[in-house]
Amino acid sequence: MQQLLEEITQQLAFETERGKVADYIPQLAEVDPGQFGISLATVEGERFSAGAAATPFSIQSISKVFTLTLGLGKLGDGLWTNVGREPSGDPFNSIVQLEHENGKPRNPFINAGAIAVVDAIMMGHEPRETLAEILSFVRYITDDQSVYFDHLVAASEMAHKDRNASLAHFMKAFGRLRHDVDKVLGTYFHQCAIAMSCEQLACAGLFLASNGVNRPANLRVVSPQRARRINSLMMMCGHYDASGEFAFRVGLPGKSGVGGGILAIAPGRGSLAVWSPGLDEYGNSLLGARALEMFVQRTGWSVFGH
Ligand code: GLN
Repeated sequence: MQQLLEEITQQLAFETERGKVADYIPQLAEVDPGQFGISLATVEGERFSAGAAATPFSIQSISKVFTLTLGLGKLGDGLWTNVGREPSGDPFNSIVQLEHENGKPRNPFINAGAIAVVDAIMMGHEPRETLAEILSFVRYITDDQSVYFDHLVAASEMAHKDRNASLAHFMKAFGRLRHDVDKVLGTYFHQCAIAMSCEQLACAGLFLASNGVNRPANLRVVSPQRARRINSLMMMCGHYDASGEFAFRVGLPGKSGVGGGILAIAPGRGSLAVWSPGLDEYGNSLLGARALEMFVQRTGWSVFGH
């Protein structure tokens, strides 16, 4: 495994076509696109990493997996009242379906859906309290207290909030959000601004690879049924309108973020995190998906086999 991760890293180091870093906020636009990291945490407790696997980056939408998990823990199936579970076939920040579908976002991984999940989690609390809860949950599953919010990224997202604010106001007009829009957005932007390394992310995803238990630490995070359902959603919706393409090429439940990270789950085997800041036209890491494709081709760890 160690040799394989190093081979993938070396091979991609020569790649000149690295995609385009997100440029909607300066904090992401300034990230060096030449970086690459990969980390694997196995259900047996082994860890393998190569490249810049210890460098923290903005996990962005990968955080939506963690808030979904938290939301299901707090509300159970009640969470599905205001968010669906179908792939959208539209970009992550699209608004078009909301009007046709009474302000109910298609799934928890598009921005509108993640905003609805945050609103559900808040349950009348202030953003500060909800954020403390989100951070302590992520630290718990990572088994690492050093995971942090990058406040500069969060502030910059707030300063460029128009698109997400439109989604939130639109949903609120349909009665889908209970809390003040700016409070929901502030919470959502901080959640997106969590900084983690590939090593930390791979560890955080481990409960999804082993029926809800983070095995090395022996922590039960969710029931086996819930882990299966979260994985299904990642497979169908984790890469937005490129989810079909990612399933075709990689065949693992995966969640991308515009920071260039991807968390991929190989059920029964392990949790993989990759990071390469350059994105494809859908906002997913270009080389991250390539690395995962190389990994499953060599290991046969796709849920569909070789
Ligand atoms: N913070 C980003 C946004 O709201 C998250 C999007 C993403 O990672 N795809 O636009």
